[in-house]
Amino acid sequence: MTTPAEALQLILTRVAPLPPRTLPLAEALGLAAAEAITSTEQVPPFTNSAMDGYAVRAGDLAAASPEHLVRLRVLGDLAAGAMADQAVAAGTAWRIMTGAPLPEGADSVVPVEDTERGADWVEVHRPLRKGIHIRLAGEDIQAGLALVVAGCALRPGDLGVLAAVGLSSVNVHPRPRVAVLTTGDELVDASERPGPGQIRDANIHAICAQVAACGAIPIPFARVRDDRATLTGVLREALRADAILTTGGISVGDYDFVKAILEELGAERVFWKVAQKPGGPLGFWRLGDKPIFGIPGNPVAAMLMVEEYVRPALRRLMGFAKLHRPVAEARLEGGWSGKAGDHRTTFLRVIARREAGHLQARLTGPQGSAILSSMLHTNALAVIPAGMDLVEPGGAVTLHLTDEAEDH
Ligand code: AMP
Ligand code: MG
Repeated sequence: MTTPAEALQLILTRVAPLPPRTLPLAEALGLAAAEAITSTEQVPPFTNSAMDGYAVRAGDLAAASPEHLVRLRVLGDLAAGAMADQAVAAGTAWRIMTGAPLPEGADSVVPVEDTERGADWVEVHRPLRKGIHIRLAGEDIQAGLALVVAGCALRPGDLGVLAAVGLSSVNVHPRPRVAVLTTGDELVDASERPGPGQIRDANIHAICAQVAACGAIPIPFARVRDDRATLTGVLREALRADAILTTGGISVGDYDFVKAILEELGAERVFWKVAQKPGGPLGFWRLGDKPIFGIPGNPVAAMLMVEEYVRPALRRLMGFAKLHRPVAEARLEGGWSGKAGDHRTTFLRVIARREAGHLQARLTGPQGSAILSSMLHTNALAVIPAGMDLVEPGGAVTLHLTDEAEDH
C-alpha cells in the first residue's frame, strides 16, 4: 500500500500549474502571480503635500516665533489634482491641500494649525524644518522595485500597489474548475426526506466547500446511481473540467464501479489505496494531464482525503509555491490509543488552541471513520505515524493546521 508521503509525491509530480492568463485586478484576489512583477513607475509620481496647510520656503520662516509672526502673501489655493500657475517666491505661499503637487520654489509645508489666516495672507508663528510635511516623488516606490514574487497569492495590498503603478491586469494561474461527483444508490439530497435505507448526501456539500475554500471552482454534478452506464456517461462529461473528484464506489464492494470505468475511459492509474486511517481506498488517475481522484464515500475519509491530497494538488494547479498547511507541534490532552501493530498513519480530528506559548490539542470526540460529527469545530489534524499506537496524555503530536484563518 502507498504511504501518505509516497501518495503525495506521486500526485504532485504529476500535476502542473494551469497555463497563466492575464486577468483584470478585480478578478485576481487570491490567485498566484505567474511571474515576478517589478514596478516600472515611481510612487508618488510627483512631490506633494502631506498636510493641509501652506507651501512655503522654510528659509522665510527662520525668524518666526509667537512674538514675531511672519506674514506671507498667499498666491492662491491648491486642491489635490490642481497645478500651481506660479512659483513660490520669497515672502509668498500657496494654500495647499493634502496630495496637491508642491509648487515650484516651495520646499516645505506649514500645517494649517500653525497659522493665522487673513484675506490674502497667512501668518506663521514658528519656524519649520526644511522639507517637512512633503512627500517626495518616488519615496514610496522606485521604478525597478520588486513588488510581487511568482507563486504567491495576491492579497488586497498587492492589488492596491499594482494599481498604483499602473498595472490594471496581472498574469496569474486561473482557478481550476473541479467536477465533483457523488455516487451511491442510497443517497438523497440534503433537502429530501430519506426513505428506508437512504441517507443524505453530505459529501457533495463538504467537498464542494473544501474545493471552494482552496480557491478553485467546484462544479457539483447531479448525484450518480451505482449504475455502470450512467456513471460512464457522467464521468465522460466531467472530463471537461480541469480536475475530477468522485466519492464512493471506489472500494471492493459489488457496486464499486468507479475504478473500472475510469480505466475503460483510458485513465492511467497512478495508485489506489493509501495506508492511512480514516481513508484507505483513495485512487489517483490521470487522463492526459488531467488529475482524477477517486475518493472513498465515507464522509470523514472523503474530507480527509481532500484535505491531505486533493488540496495540495489543486494548489499546484493554481500555481502556488506553498502547497501545504502549516505544521506545528502540540500536546495531546488525554492522549490516544490505537490498534497495536497498525501500519497505517492515523489522522485525528482535533481542536488546537494556544496556551501560554504552546499548542494544546484535544480530540473533537469519538474518532471512528463514520463519525462525521468529529469534523465539527476541528481546526487541525493530529498526524500519528504508522506503527505508533499510543500517545500518553500530554504527549507530543504533529498537527496540520487546517483553519483557513491560520493559513498564511
Ligand atoms: P462507498 O465508498 O460507496 O462504499 O461508501 C462508504 C460509506 O459512505 C457508505 O456507508 C455510504 O453510504 C457512505 N457514503 C457514500 N457516499 C456518501 C455521501 N455522498 N454522503 C454521505 N455518505 C456517503
Ligand atoms: Mg457507494
